Amino acid sequence: MADVETAREPGRDFIRDIVAEDLAQGRCAGVVTRFPPEPNGYLHIGHAKSICLNFGVAGEFGGRCHLRFDDTNPAKEAQEYIDSIEADVRWLGFDWGVHLHHASDYFGQLYAWAEHLVLSGKAYVDDQSAEEMRINRGTLTEPGRNSAFRDRSVEENLDLFRKMRAGDFAPGSRVLRAKIDMAAGNINLRDPALYRIIDAPHPRTGDTWKIYPSYDFAHGQSDAIEGITHSICTLEFEDHRPLYEWFLDNLPVPARPRQYEFARLNLTYTLLSKRILTELVRKGLVTGWDDPRMPTLAGLRRRGVPPEALREFCKRIGVAKANSTVDYAMLDFAIREHLNTVAQRRMAVLRPLRVVLENWPEGHFEEIEAVNHPDDPASGTRKLVFGRELWVERDDFMEHPAKKFYRLSPGKEVRLRYAYFVTCKSVVKDASGEVVELRCTYDPASRGGNSPDGRKVQATLHWVGASDALDAEVRLYDHLFANPAPGSGGDYAKDLNPNSLVALKGCKLEPSLAALPTGEVVQFERQGYFCLDRDSTPATPVFNRTVGLRDMWAKAQAKA
Ligand code: ATP
Ligand code: MG
Repeated sequence: MADVETAREPGRDFIRDIVAEDLAQGRCAGVVTRFPPEPNGYLHIGHAKSICLNFGVAGEFGGRCHLRFDDTNPAKEAQEYIDSIEADVRWLGFDWGVHLHHASDYFGQLYAWAEHLVLSGKAYVDDQSAEEMRINRGTLTEPGRNSAFRDRSVEENLDLFRKMRAGDFAPGSRVLRAKIDMAAGNINLRDPALYRIIDAPHPRTGDTWKIYPSYDFAHGQSDAIEGITHSICTLEFEDHRPLYEWFLDNLPVPARPRQYEFARLNLTYTLLSKRILTELVRKGLVTGWDDPRMPTLAGLRRRGVPPEALREFCKRIGVAKANSTVDYAMLDFAIREHLNTVAQRRMAVLRPLRVVLENWPEGHFEEIEAVNHPDDPASGTRKLVFGRELWVERDDFMEHPAKKFYRLSPGKEVRLRYAYFVTCKSVVKDASGEVVELRCTYDPASRGGNSPDGRKVQATLHWVGASDALDAEVRLYDHLFANPAPGSGGDYAKDLNPNSLVALKGCKLEPSLAALPTGEVVQFERQGYFCLDRDSTPATPVFNRTVGLRDMWAKAQAKA
């Protein structure tokens, strides 16, 4: 198949074309894919692309997708990661049914196949140090050099390999290598390591094994054992494909999977590397794997991002063979678009400024009806308490209004949503000259926020009644990195955004938000989408901003 991307119907890509063609030609009876994470960290949004592709293809073509843990390096792997990966794949909306597998399920078979290679003279035990092996591997322009141990007899190799397995040798002192070609143009074929001695208990096999297969030796054979038809991975494995095929050619495997490579997801302002994400967690540069600023599925979930939005995002970015970087704004757009249809509306004042209605009787309150979703009458209404004292957003007032600022300022009339027209009469300042209170009047004939005589106001503001406001902390998140290409200057830590978290205390929220179920996202009108964070206490709820609304005022300012 040509490498050229041709026009396709929506929802199709070169992988789906290959699968459709293979099924049509009867090259496979059904499609079987797998998602093969190494449990050495939490899943990130790049993995979501791979999950949506592997499970998506299987679902669309009536096949199945396995979840297989590539658990071949116990020195770096942990049960915490295994658990989080299962939870995250489920949360994203996919189900592997009975097909939960582990490379470690096949350790016995893989070992037997390694002995098969030894017996057929295609593998040998090498005593070189890691450093010697690195030097003798050569470079892209220079061939490698054969190890002095390359021509050991089959008997000696078998004996040494069995002793490696028995734990007779120190970790790192020997490896089993395939005997392919130290001068191969493809470095992956220069006698790659098959087995290493690692002294660490394995989360699943405990102390049974002293030696562990390499990724390359485990992966394709695991695919073959499971009857995977299309082994879909990212482009960096393209150069491993000849080795993948060499193993299938030289071992008595029960099936012949094929590997296909697609471009990994790269996102602006984001690093999608488990190594770096692990460092961020270990160095305390974030609060944990589920820090809402992290591109992990756990972080995105905690921030309030719905799985439907991630799936839609993955669909829109598509699957191609050329590497590229997706603008983070595309992700925000998908999140907003989904939440706009499902999130109920609420009112919350993040930077409160007190309003006193001078002509409203003291001790008098009215119930105001507010709509839960403007496009979905079935979601009903709720009651808000309106009285003499209210909170409005500090940003909605300017003592000396700039041009085109249509909100509150002295003498100006605005609508308070669902309630009344109010006019700012004067301001109260503190000793430092800061405005701390607005003295306003309301028009009793404008109840419900309706104009009594056809006169217009230029702004409708959200508000919260002071009598029953809920005090809360609200956390506003921005990109974790300030640089759209973090790390491009060498040190990614320098690119961290110092303003990636702004925690606002003393925010005033409408009281219904006290009962918001965990995981439910609401729109704070004119602000964005928010959900309750698990740091909440009974005394102080904490809300996360999932994503902001596009701020027309800020946009207009930026243009001016
Ligand atoms: P990282 O590069 O973050 O360390 P990895 O490739 O080592 O990731 P694995 O657990 O081996 O992590 O990944 C499981 C699967 O997810 C692999 O098939 C891999 O190709 C795929 N994957 C990893 N990162 C991305 C990404 N950014 N975009 C698409 N797929 C990805
Ligand atoms: Mg990997």
